[in-house]
Amino acid sequence: MDVRRDYERSCQVAAVLFFLLLLPQGSAFATSLRTLEGQRIHSDAGSIDLRFRLREDIRSDQHEHALLIGVSADSRERYEIRIVNDKLNARRYFGGCLLSAFLYAHDFRVGDWHSLRFSWNGATTELLVDQDSVALHELLAVDDLGTVLPGVGLGRESSLEIGGFRSSSDSPTVQTSSDRDFALGTTCPNIDALIGEAAQENQRGIALKHFPDQRSRDTITSYLNLLPDPMTSAIATIVYVEDARMPKRGGLGGAQPRSRSLVLKGSSFSDPTVFFHEAAHLYDFRVKINFGVPEPQNEWAAISGVSCYKKATDIAEFAEYFQKTHVQNGILAAQGGQCASEDLAIWVGAVYDYYLKNKTFTDMMNPSSPKYSDKTRKKLDFLLQKGFFSQVVYDKVTSR
Ligand SMILES: [Zn+2]
Repeated sequence: MDVRRDYERSCQVAAVLFFLLLLPQGSAFATSLRTLEGQRIHSDAGSIDLRFRLREDIRSDQHEHALLIGVSADSRERYEIRIVNDKLNARRYFGGCLLSAFLYAHDFRVGDWHSLRFSWNGATTELLVDQDSVALHELLAVDDLGTVLPGVGLGRESSLEIGGFRSSSDSPTVQTSSDRDFALGTTCPNIDALIGEAAQENQRGIALKHFPDQRSRDTITSYLNLLPDPMTSAIATIVYVEDARMPKRGGLGGAQPRSRSLVLKGSSFSDPTVFFHEAAHLYDFRVKINFGVPEPQNEWAAISGVSCYKKATDIAEFAEYFQKTHVQNGILAAQGGQCASEDLAIWVGAVYDYYLKNKTFTDMMNPSSPKYSDKTRKKLDFLLQKGFFSQVVYDKVTSR
């Protein structure tokens, strides 16, 4: 499920998820993964074995190097194994909203082959690197269990080599009672069930679902009425989710491209920076400015100069870099500085927020202002031209 926070923290996860949702065909990610035809991963109980070696030293490289990104044959579980700098991380998303995460500080030398086994049984997951057991970093409930098409993708890039992939329904792992109890005690949001509910009303061809009252639907209808037609056609459903139903680490909203659903958390459903942010993700998905295009052809990244690769950067280091550069780069929030698709959505959310609050971007468009960036006008013009908001909205947020 792709319920995502807008600005602060989990957008990074969400950005990854957004890519993952598109992974199987033609996405930017897919260009660096080799799809293993005829291979399947077994959910609930199973194991993966592979071997790999580094072809170059990547310890100071900020890019992620994916060893494997896979989805079980029944689409219920997702597995990711990556190397970022001097860490190997492995993740298993399962059980509707659970995540087992491993973080292994590696000392892989260029050229040496290493073995890896990832195995699971019920709520328990294990990772072995070179036959050594890696301690579980955390088992927790998450809100971003994106379901994607089943498949197995192995990393394909010049920095590493992967071989000997094997997947089995046999698992050496034994489920522990503590993991089982954690899973049993966790309530998953099951937002798909809400998306499947009957519509309370339809506005501009969009079904509103699970809202508590007429007033809340009227607020959303007033937002929908601001959107250009093409943008509304990217949205099929808007669903309101009570706070208690959202997982603790959950975000304020989400966008689920698969069902074209916009998900809003109850306590912040009327925040324009959430609603229009998520609407922008769905429309971006439709027009494929950030998704489904190879990185060099990403028009938004060409303006903003950021790509999702930056998300792998050390956060403290990145914050320092961001403080120094975000004005000149025309980036509004740190998550936008780490990922082009988030930057676009944050901008769209901000434009509507400013419009509704009678604020303008003119300071950022005035060359004598310390907030000035030539990218401000470029970004606003681009978004207008691509249909993310109307001329009326544009004129108001750019005029004194
Ligand atoms: Zn976002």
